[in-house]
Amino acid sequence: MIIRNVFANRNVNPKKRNRSKILISQKRWRESNGHKSRAHDLLNKAVKRGDLVKPTLCEKCHDAHRHIHGHHEDYEKPLEVIWLCPPCHHNRHEELLNDSKN
Ligand SMILES: [Zn+2]
Ligand SMILES: [Zn+2]
Repeated sequence: MIIRNVFANRNVNPKKRNRSKILISQKRWRESNGHKSRAHDLLNKAVKRGDLVKPTLCEKCHDAHRHIHGHHEDYEKPLEVIWLCPPCHHNRHEELLNDSKN
């Protein structure tokens, strides 16, 4: 049984094999990032509807910035965000990365 499978795999067109690999990695990416893009989507919609007011000040450094980002501490709660300027947002993610490393 095992020997027969080895021979079967040899006949697989390498191009076909590569394509299925790419498809798998895309699926994995969606699975691991889908909740993030959904959270951003819901947040953007809430801001557009006016349900949520995007401030002009960063919650961390209290600087006014043209592009304030809604940062999700918990992607399961798409409308609970911290509003951060891009540098603070970046720093927050660095902190989270370091936290998960420890
Ligand atoms: Zn800031
Ligand atoms: Zn963030």
